[in-house]
Amino acid sequence: MTEVRIGVVGCGGRMGRSNLSAILADPGASIAGGTEREDSPAVGRDIGFLAGVDEIGLLVGADPGPLFEEADAIVDFTAPAASVAHARQAAATGTALVIGTTGLSEEDLAEIRREADKTAIVQAANMSLGVNLVLGLVEQAASRLSPDFDIEVLEMHHRDKVDAPSGTALALGAAAARGRGVELEGVAQKVRDGITGARRSGDIGFATLRGGDVAGEHSVIFAAPGERIELTHKAGNREIFARGAIKAALWAAGQRPGLYSMRDVLGLT
Ligand code: NAD
Repeated sequence: MTEVRIGVVGCGGRMGRSNLSAILADPGASIAGGTEREDSPAVGRDIGFLAGVDEIGLLVGADPGPLFEEADAIVDFTAPAASVAHARQAAATGTALVIGTTGLSEEDLAEIRREADKTAIVQAANMSLGVNLVLGLVEQAASRLSPDFDIEVLEMHHRDKVDAPSGTALALGAAAARGRGVELEGVAQKVRDGITGARRSGDIGFATLRGGDVAGEHSVIFAAPGERIELTHKAGNREIFARGAIKAALWAAGQRPGLYSMRDVLGLT
């Protein structure tokens, strides 16, 4: 079997390093190389050390161009502006791309969608099998429950996370809104402070907790007078996201151009 050669952009980051280890653990994949920001201390280091093993003879680069030429697929957990630039690069070289970066704006997503006309791009705020199953359950519950059930999304992440609510919390909110046949934008309540007045019926509320080293916890709460349903996912480590990202990269390397979700990769659509 020919190995799929996977490149990791942002390979010095928390997810970047987990992605490198996940490639090494997968017999169907090999590391094509890795890049980092020009000013990152990881540039010039052997990629093996970032993956938690010995030297593998590949050094972290600062120019994504040669890596996109070399790799069959690229995995990108970086920052929104970088992911949009990587989508352009992937379209230029026809390289499959997996984007796990969160905090993407509507404009960022529109640009990624345009670039996906020229190459296969998988974009998902959460790459774990469990969360993607929960997304389907939330949509189903929201479609079955009466509007008397208030929907609230609660999330907790480690202290270094830079965006809120998390991309996964927003995806869960969007799944609930889809189940109810409404647009999330029209009903999302992302901040409550001071004299807010009573809860508006039909809103989907978000609450954000930050602290410690929590990899990611999400609950969707359906609350009605007298009863409450809670659907919860707890990520114990980053490996579940990295394994999903590498699975997505292996899948995307053989796909036609288009924008895909993790539910496509997992066959849940
Ligand atoms: P991190 O800050 O540890 O890592 C990001 C890395 O990207 C850094 O090393 C940074 O130097 C690098 N980077 C930034 N711009 C770059 C560029 N232009 N070229 C190359 N490298 C660049 O953050 P993290 O915890 O690894 O998270 C990264 C992103 O992934 C966040 O948006 C986070 O929310 C998201 N995330 C998604 C999932 C998922 O399943 N989709 C899971 C966990 C985290």
